[in-house]
Amino acid sequence: YAAKDNGKNTYEFYNSSYNSVTSKVEMENELRHAIERKELQLFYQPKVNIASGEIVGAEALIRWIHPTYGFVSPADFIPIAEETGLIIPMGEWILEQACKDLFIWNTNRTKNISVSVNISMHQFLNENLLKSVENAINLAKIDPTLLELEITESVAMFQPEIVIEKLKNLKNKGITLALDDFGTGYSSLNYLKMLPIDVLKIDQSFIKDMDHADTTIVRSLIEIAHSLHMTVVAEGVETKSQLNYLQGVHCDLFQGYYFSKAIPQEEFLKLLRIFK
Ligand code: C2E
Ligand code: MG
Ligand code: MG
Ligand code: MG
Repeated sequence: YAAKDNGKNTYEFYNSSYNSVTSKVEMENELRHAIERKELQLFYQPKVNIASGEIVGAEALIRWIHPTYGFVSPADFIPIAEETGLIIPMGEWILEQACKDLFIWNTNRTKNISVSVNISMHQFLNENLLKSVENAINLAKIDPTLLELEITESVAMFQPEIVIEKLKNLKNKGITLALDDFGTGYSSLNYLKMLPIDVLKIDQSFIKDMDHADTTIVRSLIEIAHSLHMTVVAEGVETKSQLNYLQGVHCDLFQGYYFSKAIPQEEFLKLLRIFK
């Protein structure tokens, strides 16, 4: 495999056989066995509060390391997992693993940190979501407020009545809710204010180039989020100047390669020890 050097994660490997030779059916079959073969791993990307200089949490980002495909990007296999329904058992595994890892982070820590878990469309709409979330929390014996679920704006827009009901049920259990990739969908501000969302994650496309239009949009998004009492996280912060601008417009928390890419649990634990 050739290393995929597009400025993204250095753990990623581009596999030409996946794009050309590997059929989708074969890929599906391999994915079906990925959990039991322990080919899936959660990596963690720290979320930073610059004002206090602390790591306040991390986002769980799944990695599939296949013996012959090499590294497969979640952008490629999550859609397949969604189509085949594999996302349901996989999502349960992700929730359980993330909660177990969180428990370890907070052992012997005075100030607890949180874990964010991405929930895709089918997983969110599945009738057992609440049960599997509660199960993961109970198994790991963690405080539910320290589990943050990220749904994208497109999921949130799916069917307002159903989505709001589901979010309220999760909120009632004390779980923290975040809206991911914000700004890429078309949700109205009227709708946004009806959602019991705690955290707004500004999509990295607004942070990337930060031209005049982007800076204006970002500043406005932050003001709106704050007026709705939401915490704002900037995704994809890569440079000092991006960070400086975002701090200037009162963005609360930051995530991006400027601080760290997603790293394995052991490395994240080391990072936590340094920052303690
Ligand atoms: P996302 O939830 O919006 O995650 C952010 C993505 O941006 C991650 O890509 C992360 O590695 C990348 N990123 C973080 N900082 C930077 C930066 O400074 N610059 C750039 N260019 N990229 C940055 P990743 O890990 O490849 O994940 C892609 C998407 O796959 C995620 O987008 C999420 O939608 C999905 N995904 C990842 N893990 C899971 C999971 O466990 N469950 C579900 N359902 N979806 C997941
Ligand atoms: Mg996310
Ligand atoms: Mg995102
Ligand atoms: Mg995304």
